[in-house]
Amino acid sequence: MIRTEFIADVKKLVREWKSAGLSIGLVPTMGYLHEGHASLIKKAREENDRVIVSDFVNPIQFGVGEDLESYPRDFEADCNLCESLGVDLIFHPSPEEMYLPGFHSHVGVDTLSTNLCGKSRPIHFNGVCTVVTKLFNISEADRAYFGQKDAQQLCIVKRMVRDLNMNISIIGCPIIREDDGLAKSSRNTYLNAEERQAALILHKALTKGEELVKSGETDASKVKQAITDIINSEPLAKIDYVEIVDASELQAVETINGEILCAIAVYIGKTRLIDNFFA
Ligand code: AMP
Repeated sequence: MIRTEFIADVKKLVREWKSAGLSIGLVPTMGYLHEGHASLIKKAREENDRVIVSDFVNPIQFGVGEDLESYPRDFEADCNLCESLGVDLIFHPSPEEMYLPGFHSHVGVDTLSTNLCGKSRPIHFNGVCTVVTKLFNISEADRAYFGQKDAQQLCIVKRMVRDLNMNISIIGCPIIREDDGLAKSSRNTYLNAEERQAALILHKALTKGEELVKSGETDASKVKQAITDIINSEPLAKIDYVEIVDASELQAVETINGEILCAIAVYIGKTRLIDNFFA
């Protein structure tokens, strides 16, 4: 496995691979890799001749007061996991390599970025779209792999690729969970033992919500209320949002009739966790 911090190195390898007619899969990550990331890498490995993992904590997707500085990092462990999964190239740029002095260009997707996480993180998705566009251009990947764990991000990236005619297929991958149901996340490492137990409330509440929708409940406010009540029964939990939106435009629905995304963001202590289901 090749490791590099430099865009020029990636571009050189990509040129060689492309001229040999090889397909390329990209897995964009912020590192501190776990089994959720591994599931994306495994799928990329199955479907492509070459696999690139990017490992970059992207500063421009963090707002003021968010956890950019404290975001967990362990590049050696990430390399070991990637190597064991047959990754060809791990790209670990510095912020200075990605954002040259005088960087002023941004990519954004309107409407889809305004709800859900976009309400409390107003610059987040523009930062994501910008870095993802750069990674697509640098890697010239045929396919890129994103987790449904970040459902809004997945919808936005798919829309950006469609709207801007980018030559890449976006592959969505299911949420990987701990045995007790907590969605795997690099941020779970912030939780102390008591908070880790309290965090189970997210999955518990969503499971109830999903049951209600599957059993035919079409009143979105009733489903949201049931989820809210369960989360509020946990003293360490503080709701950021509980939303039911249409799965295409991500706008709130009153009545559940087409495909919906039910998404939640909840603080457990100081740690903000997200989870969701599509129905
Ligand atoms: P991150 O490093 O948190 O930016 O995540 C990188 C990619 O891994 C994103 O596409 C995430 O949606 C995906 N991912 C993170 N956690 C999980 C999980 N538990 N299950 C599936 N995909 C995940």
